[in-house]
Amino acid sequence: MGNNCFQVLLILALINPAVFLWGQAPEEREASHKVQKFSIVIHGGAGSSAANASPLQVKRRKASLAKALDRGVAILSSGGTSLDAVESVLRILEDDPQFNAGKGAVFNAAGEHELDASIMDGETKACGAVAGVKTVKNPIELARLVMTETRHVLLAGSGAEVFAKQQGVELVPTNYFDTPGARKSWERYKLRMSGLNKNGDEKIESSWKMGTVGCVALDGKGNLAAGTTTGGMTYKKFGRIGDSPIVGAGTYADNATCGVSATGIGEQYIRNAVAYDVSAQMKYKGVTLQEAVDDNLRQRLNKNDGGLIAIDKDGNIAMGFNTAGMARAAADSQGRYEVIWGDAIGKTPEKND
Ligand code: ASP
Repeated sequence: MGNNCFQVLLILALINPAVFLWGQAPEEREASHKVQKFSIVIHGGAGSSAANASPLQVKRRKASLAKALDRGVAILSSGGTSLDAVESVLRILEDDPQFNAGKGAVFNAAGEHELDASIMDGETKACGAVAGVKTVKNPIELARLVMTETRHVLLAGSGAEVFAKQQGVELVPTNYFDTPGARKSWERYKLRMSGLNKNGDEKIESSWKMGTVGCVALDGKGNLAAGTTTGGMTYKKFGRIGDSPIVGAGTYADNATCGVSATGIGEQYIRNAVAYDVSAQMKYKGVTLQEAVDDNLRQRLNKNDGGLIAIDKDGNIAMGFNTAGMARAAADSQGRYEVIWGDAIGKTPEKND
C-alpha cells in the first residue's frame, strides 16, 4: 500500500514537480517558482584607463571583477539580501591586491595605510562607516558592524580599532596591506613632492591613480544597499578622510530612489554631497537615475574628478565617469552580465573606455 502510494506520488511529481512542494505554505510555494529579481553593479575605481595598463593587467583585473560579480549574483539569485551581496563582493575585492582597498591599499604621506569604508541599507537608512583604520583586514565588515552593533554611524582611528578588537574581526599587521605597486607609486609621489612647496597637494590630485571599490545591489525584496571601501588617495595627508566613509558623499541608499557608490577625488564628492544628490534629484526633481548621475558628473563635478555607479528602485543600472576610464561590472536577473575595462566581456556591452 505504502509502496503504491509512493509510486503514484512519483508519477504525479514527474508530471507536475509542484507536487514536491505540497508541504509548503502557498506563499513559499509561489516564492520557490519565482526567479529572484535583482540588479548589481560594481566599480573598481575611476582613476585609471585600461589603455595605460598591460593586456595581462587588464585581463587580471577583469577576472577579479567577474569573480566578485559572480559572488554577488549567486547571493542575490538565491534570495540573499542586498546588504550581504554588497559586503561579500567588497570583501573579495578588499582581499585582492589589484585594488586600492584592503590588501593593495595606497600609502599616505607618512608611508602608512589608513583605510576608509561605509555601507548603507536603503530599507531602513541604517548605515555604518569606519575611517583611518590601520589593522582591520576587511574594513567593510567593520563598517557593517558599526551599523548593526552600535548606535553610531562613523567610527574613526583608534576608537574604530578598539571596536574591531571587541567585535573579534580579523586584524592584520600593518604591512599586510603593502604591495610593490602601491609602494612604487608612493615613492614616485614622494620624489615629486620633495620638489614642491609644502601645500602642493593640488598637483598631486590631478594625477591620481586609483582602484577604490564600490558595490550597489537591489535584492528580490526590493531592498537597495550600497558600500564603498578604499585606501584613499596616494600620499594623502596623515589623518585625511575621503568621501568613501562619508554617507551622502561616497555612499548612499534609499529604497524610495536609488543606491549609489562613488569613486574619485573624495574632497569633491564631499563638497558636492554627490551620492545624496543623485538620490535627491530623483526625489525632488523627478529625473531618472541616469539623468541624476550624468548631471553630477557633468555639472557638479569637474572633469577628471571620478565616477559613479548606481541602481534605482526598479533595478535600472547607471555607470558613469568623467575620467579616462572606470573598471566596472554589472548584472541583473534579466540576463545582463558585463565586465568592462577597456572593452566589455558580456552580453550587453555599452560605451567602452
Ligand atoms: N574617493 C576615494 C578617496 O578620495 C578615492 C577613490 O575613489 O579612488 O579617498
